[in-house]
Amino acid sequence: MTDHLVATVQKHVPNIPLKIISQGAEALVFETTIHPYSTTPSLHNNKQFIIKFRPPKPYRHPKIDASITKSRTIGEVKFIYKLEKLGIAAPSVISADFPNGIIWMEHLGSSLPDGNISSLKNWLWYLEKQGDVTKCVDERVKSVCNLVGELIGRLHLNDMVHGDLTSSNILLTDDYKVPALIDFGLSSFSNLPEDKAVDLYVLERAILSTHSVFADTYNAWLLEGYETIHHSVEFKKDGKVKYKDTIRRLEDVRLRGRKRSLI
Ligand code: AMP
Repeated sequence: MTDHLVATVQKHVPNIPLKIISQGAEALVFETTIHPYSTTPSLHNNKQFIIKFRPPKPYRHPKIDASITKSRTIGEVKFIYKLEKLGIAAPSVISADFPNGIIWMEHLGSSLPDGNISSLKNWLWYLEKQGDVTKCVDERVKSVCNLVGELIGRLHLNDMVHGDLTSSNILLTDDYKVPALIDFGLSSFSNLPEDKAVDLYVLERAILSTHSVFADTYNAWLLEGYETIHHSVEFKKDGKVKYKDTIRRLEDVRLRGRKRSLI
């Protein structure tokens, strides 16, 4: 199955070496060493790039499928462009082929000492596996969690929601110190506190399920950063109100989640 999909994407990017790094229901993600038009790109990493490919879905009518693929790819690229304009850390788009569902983008993050990509999830896991509890909750971890909270806050303050906010979709750059967001396949523009609260809840649950021992501490630090950016001078116009509305809604979303688990 994957071979067939790799052959399909290879047809659209001939002679480009592709290494598959992830296969999800919606898209395949490849690493490549080739930039489509520059030998000296000014990116964080100018040796590796990412190609995200939305393959045709055989269970959809071909015409409908082509239209969905095109509009989702355009939507994701637009979202990333807007993030770049706002200075919200995310990979830059290098090039895109909308009809074929391809986005060529900047490669962010690096490898952890254990070889895994430096996502927030992998990094926290890596620290936990070292067996030194103090390192799991030290100032460095607090700073990263605060910055993640600020990053999400900045996103929400601009009425943008991620839609799939897990700790795998947050990559750490600059020596695992600076977070950046990835995967905007389900992202949207919304000013609704409900949508923002669901984003926060999804991340809260992801942290709880993957880092249960320190989850409460990590989540408190995330919310601390989220609050800080809402109360900053930059957002003094409506930051405080937006913060109150979203956090109030988060309480409701948590309650709904608890009721659902009981049922
Ligand atoms: P996605 O389908 O966009 O969630 O990507 C799946 C996986 O590919 C992520 O969990 C990352 O490990 C990796 N990935 C996606 N985009 C990038 C990127 N811009 N830089 C580095 N790794 C990425």
